[in-house]
Amino acid sequence: MRVFINPGHALGGNPDPGCVNPAIHLRECDLAITYGSLCGKYLEAAGCEVSLLQSHNLAGESPGYPCVVEAANAWEADVFVSIHVNAGGGRGPETYCYSKEGAGGRLAGCIQNQLLWGLCPYDRGYIDRGVKAHPSFCVLRNTNMPAVLVEVGFIDSDDVGVLTLHGDEIARALARGVTDYWQRSS
Ligand SMILES: [Zn+2]
Repeated sequence: MRVFINPGHALGGNPDPGCVNPAIHLRECDLAITYGSLCGKYLEAAGCEVSLLQSHNLAGESPGYPCVVEAANAWEADVFVSIHVNAGGGRGPETYCYSKEGAGGRLAGCIQNQLLWGLCPYDRGYIDRGVKAHPSFCVLRNTNMPAVLVEVGFIDSDDVGVLTLHGDEIARALARGVTDYWQRSS
């Protein structure tokens, strides 16, 4: 299986770090690349091929940067996983797909379940925000393969404990979600 991982926002945070929690110097771009890189290592250990790209250009809007959806489509990935962190003070993960009915919806369900199963033991407040269809997200609309966008948790709530102390568990959960999906669809 070929897994394309897209940690959200710009590599190194320039020009777009994503959401930030300035009080504790936490940036979404840094959390996303940490989880994405580790997740890729676990997937490779499980026998997957992995391609990882964090870029300020998702679908051609910033031509000075490599284009994420073009890279995923040209590489002919079997699944696409974009990793993000939320802001706004809520709790828990949510996973977006193009349509809940399709393969992307099943992939989203597997990842959401593994995040909850893997992280709830550390924090009972890390609650299920669910799988949600969001067909207008450009990485979901413009990729040719089952694709999800995961919001792992909130950078500005008590989720910070999970996000900063349990990054390895988050990466493992994301990887298990992908392999669960693959086992169920093959
Ligand atoms: Zn984001």
